[in-house]
Amino acid sequence: MPSDIEIAQHAKMRRITDVALDKLGVADEYLDPYGHYMAKISLDYIDSLADRPDGKLILVTAISPTPAGEGKTTTTVGLGDALNRIGKKASICLREPSLGPVFGMKGGAAGGGYSQVVPMEDINLHFTGDFSAIALANNLLAALIDNHIHHGNELGFDLRRIAWKRVVDMNDRALRQIVVGLGGVANGFPREDGFDIVVASEVMAIFCLATSISDLKNRLAKIVVGYTRDQKPIHAGDLNGHGAMAVLLKNALKPNLVQTLENNPAFIHGGPFANIAHGCNSVLATKTALKLSDYVVTEAGFGADLGAEKFVDIKCRKSGLRPQAAVIVATIRALKYHGGADLKELNTENLDALSKGVANLERHVNNIRNHYGLPCVVAINHFTFDTIAELDLLQKKMAHHEAPIVVCRHWAEGGKGAEELAHTVVDIIDKTPSDFRFVYEDDAPLWDKVTAIATKLYGASEVTADSKIRGQIKKLQESGYGHYPICVAKTQYSFSTDPKLRGAPSHHEINIREVRLAAGAEFIVVICGDMMTMPGLPKVPSANAIDLDENGKIVGLF
Ligand code: ADP
Ligand code: MG
Repeated sequence: MPSDIEIAQHAKMRRITDVALDKLGVADEYLDPYGHYMAKISLDYIDSLADRPDGKLILVTAISPTPAGEGKTTTTVGLGDALNRIGKKASICLREPSLGPVFGMKGGAAGGGYSQVVPMEDINLHFTGDFSAIALANNLLAALIDNHIHHGNELGFDLRRIAWKRVVDMNDRALRQIVVGLGGVANGFPREDGFDIVVASEVMAIFCLATSISDLKNRLAKIVVGYTRDQKPIHAGDLNGHGAMAVLLKNALKPNLVQTLENNPAFIHGGPFANIAHGCNSVLATKTALKLSDYVVTEAGFGADLGAEKFVDIKCRKSGLRPQAAVIVATIRALKYHGGADLKELNTENLDALSKGVANLERHVNNIRNHYGLPCVVAINHFTFDTIAELDLLQKKMAHHEAPIVVCRHWAEGGKGAEELAHTVVDIIDKTPSDFRFVYEDDAPLWDKVTAIATKLYGASEVTADSKIRGQIKKLQESGYGHYPICVAKTQYSFSTDPKLRGAPSHHEINIREVRLAAGAEFIVVICGDMMTMPGLPKVPSANAIDLDENGKIVGLF
């Protein structure tokens, strides 16, 4: 099998204006092309679609991720292509890749094998410049803060309580904690500062949740950038920075359109972290795709306890989006890992480990059906090493769940390999009405919301926090943020807060270590365990293998 980049470089791409017209009925006057194969869709045109009916939304999620890889993006692409193959008008919606992981650990964000989006190099590197615009908007606000303090600090910022960092789209651990304003009077007031990666910026989360330019501006104005000495919040709106930030985001806000290897439409827009933020592509892109297609397949980050929960409780709650079904991606390899198999042994048949590991899949299926109220199909992303005995055992173990299990070969075969999955998903949507619901209601107290997530979805016995954290939660509740949803930041590898507890642990404690207000994104981040908002590069980063050959061709990118 050729590498992902070799397959992508041999793609027979169509002009994006042709894809837009043939597959979505969008004339080229509504597109802002970026070269021949990428385009942005105009916001005026999107507004004009308001009265059209919406297509059906399918959420792709997964079992708890493992180092073995599950293939959510690959399956999203494969299912989108397969739906088109069986005669449905379907698009996909994905997040934009961040440069941090591209140059860090090997692993793309544009799918894999014969289920990819193209032009893969552009999508993975800069794309249409959205992340640069988001970084600039974020950093403009940072500059306004230090400038305000330099010129007299009328708003009364407490220099020890600035809640806004600078960002860059790179894994650069040296920037985690820095001192700014050094060098004398002309350079402002020295203070501790730091950088986050762009995808961790609240501007990214706001960008992805905004439903219009005015909603974007309102949310930007609400960002809490710091506190006074008596702990009163200061907002971006107090610095009058939200208008200029919106100007920087104006073009970025238009959803990007590209295509799959099989020339079907793919909306790739926005890319918030799935830990400190909600981990889904933009509301604007998803809504646009739903107006232009009968079926829309979209991916949420991490596993169904985290990404799917935030998709439901954050993205859908506020935007009004309502999915009709969920596809949960699992691999035999990952299930064996959840059953205790060693990472190095995953390519060997191990029925015992598989049998134990199925518990992880079962918990996620139950959560999706009982707590999100969604009909659910299990997509087994087939790896060449999977044995018939393993596949049979999985079918048997899952038979009593009302979630069909479909083995898919889209990675090796493209859309053809996921046709059965496509038929199954269409069928379940037709026959099983979704009973979509949230995990908690808006008016539940913040503490109860966290408890609902932890006990219903994670199988935890209780939520704990020391008195300082409890005090902060109480204060947020009393300051008028009690109706905000919760964004849990915890390890994606386990239902618990211990990444080493695989399978389906129960009766554990979920300890809240830190609470952060994302006032503009309109959620409360609850941090349970270590969380990195500026990753580092590994000893041998992917950057070492990425190169440009003499003919200007990119090599070594996955
Ligand atoms: P996720 O979205 O869940 O993080 P991806 O779809 O990005 O996962 O896939 C992760 C990696 O695994 C990609 O490099 C992809 O090429 C590879 N991969 C996915 N499915 C398969 C498969 N069936 N066989 C081999 N490799 C696969
Ligand atoms: Mg992915």
